[in-house]
Amino acid sequence: MNTLPKLIVFSAPSGAGKTTLVRHLLEQKELNLAFSISAASRDARDGEIDGKDYYFLGVEEFKKRIRQDDFLEFEEVYRDQFYGTLKTEVERLWEQGKNVIFDIDVVGGLRLKKKFPDRTLAVFVKPPSINELQIRLKNRKTETPEKIAMRVAKASTEMATAPQFDVIIKNDDLDLAKQRAVAVVKDFINQGYPGDEKE
Ligand code: 5GP
Repeated sequence: MNTLPKLIVFSAPSGAGKTTLVRHLLEQKELNLAFSISAASRDARDGEIDGKDYYFLGVEEFKKRIRQDDFLEFEEVYRDQFYGTLKTEVERLWEQGKNVIFDIDVVGGLRLKKKFPDRTLAVFVKPPSINELQIRLKNRKTETPEKIAMRVAKASTEMATAPQFDVIIKNDDLDLAKQRAVAVVKDFINQGYPGDEKE
């Protein structure tokens, strides 16, 4: 019987809808999931809460924490915009016996998969198209046109990493995508993995 908590990584280009899927998964109590709150160097957007959506560290503090080797993984996702998973965050959730779910960029996601290959399910959320992504980002009205352009430009590179993930969920129908997400995560959590019995 498997008791070791697992890691569920959701990665996607910005605007693909992964945050919506992650929130839906967190509502499924039987999955015993807890959200890994990332650290970010950017400021909070309207409605975002420090210690809930992110730990908003600012650039200087973020760099200091990098020097202290406090991160399990971190990325300069956009120029001068750092995001990362603090070691203490994952330890905190593992101590509670929770499976940990991550909403992180593709590079960070693949890095975690490499660090904990058997414990991690890496899911890539694919938007219907780059064009659709651009429309969603515009409608979201959280980013300046310049930042939207930066995110869209990065999306093509990110899309190319999809085959390296364990599962790809195409998000052109949100209800179907939610169902698929619950199914794959449930499967992974219920399944054992090599080495279980020995630990
Ligand atoms: P946003 O500014 O829209 O909240 O996030 C920008 C990007 O940073 C998203 O792709 C998000 O998934 C990613 N991100 C958030 N937290 C982390 C993290 O801890 N590590 C990495 N590598 N990326 C993250």
